Amino acid sequence: MSRTVYVNGEYLPEEEAKVSIFDRSFLMADGVYEVTSVLGGKIIDFSGHIARLERSLGELDMQKPAAFDDLLEIHRELVRLNEIDEGMIYLQVSRGSAGDRDFVFPDPEKVKPTLVLFTQNKPGLADSPAAKTGLKVISIEDMRWARRDIKTVQLLYPSMGKMMAKKQGCDDAWLVEDGVVTEGTSNNAYIVKNGTIITRELSTHILHGITRAAVLRFAREAQMTVVERPFTIEEAQDADEAFITSASTFVLPVVEIDGAAIGTGAPGPMAARLREIYLEESRKAGV
Ligand code: PMP
Repeated sequence: MSRTVYVNGEYLPEEEAKVSIFDRSFLMADGVYEVTSVLGGKIIDFSGHIARLERSLGELDMQKPAAFDDLLEIHRELVRLNEIDEGMIYLQVSRGSAGDRDFVFPDPEKVKPTLVLFTQNKPGLADSPAAKTGLKVISIEDMRWARRDIKTVQLLYPSMGKMMAKKQGCDDAWLVEDGVVTEGTSNNAYIVKNGTIITRELSTHILHGITRAAVLRFAREAQMTVVERPFTIEEAQDADEAFITSASTFVLPVVEIDGAAIGTGAPGPMAARLREIYLEESRKAGV
């Protein structure tokens, strides 16, 4: 069955949805996006994702495509039309199409942003087998641009990183810059040592994960110790546990880095507990 997607004010079957070949997102990667998950038909961490979207737009001097309430309404309508119980909603905003190719930004009075939303139906999303088996990651150099705090659609290097991991029989890659881990290709990275959760501090070097913010809040509320600082691959290989967070995976354990087993080589208890708390609290707070 074809999905219903949203393009610039219209709900359309995916086959009929169109964006100009001159759209700046296509020509220049001049666009930002957000991904929210759906659990039990409810949207998770919506206000956090929209706040980050507004920040991304602001940093790039791009116009807001719609008001918060309208965006929530569009998300809800797509969940309803596509009968999503568990899955994802992708929202993409580009600087629009000026009808030609030019490095110079178009006049925002004349060219409106392009707004596209689509869903992915993922029954069983919260029941991922990876939560029980854990992920294997490789480390690669972080060769992305220097404003990773802006959630742009420039996903080529993360995509290449995932392919490098797959080629080595692994699930994902952790990115390393100046000898320390920044984050995963599409998630934030954590280790646990002697009961302390360690994750890279917020800066322009990493995306400010919405799941990260929620998980660290829940960890602190549960009296777990959190330290936000950089760590090396060697430190991670020597940790008791490792895990990742993102809107589409929630919390997933990492059991191997560059072939070295983490802790016992099985998913650790802190990651399991945080996943449980995150899922429980998110389901309660979904909108
Ligand atoms: N870092 C990167 C590079 C990402 O692509 C993502 C997922 N979009 C994250 C971290 C996690 O962010 P969030 O928890 O908001 O999904």
